[in-house]
Amino acid sequence: MPGIDYRLARACVRLGEVLELIGYQPRTRVGAQLRGPCPLHGSRSPTSRSFAAHLGKNVYHCFVCGAGGNALDLWAALTRQDFHAAVQDLCQRLGQPVPWLPRRKQPVKEIRS
Ligand SMILES: [Zn+2]
Repeated sequence: MPGIDYRLARACVRLGEVLELIGYQPRTRVGAQLRGPCPLHGSRSPTSRSFAAHLGKNVYHCFVCGAGGNALDLWAALTRQDFHAAVQDLCQRLGQPVPWLPRRKQPVKEIRS
């Protein structure tokens, strides 16, 4: 299976899109910062504010379970897939092309007889 350009994928996928995909309901929103129940460790209380997401920086952090990362990490954690599968899955769900890494080029000095 070809590799994925994770750097490019990270630049294409917004954290807000992932939260929208799971129908996340934040408890509070101040500017680009959301706070609410953590979708990863499954906060039961709807008033929980353990989970913090910054839509501008595309990072999240949970103060209870310690989870954190970017939009791709969140999708991988939510869907319990390995990172490669999660990124592929997420791009497809968002209708974005998967940023596959180019296959290794043939050596330049190719000798044809
Ligand atoms: Zn958590």
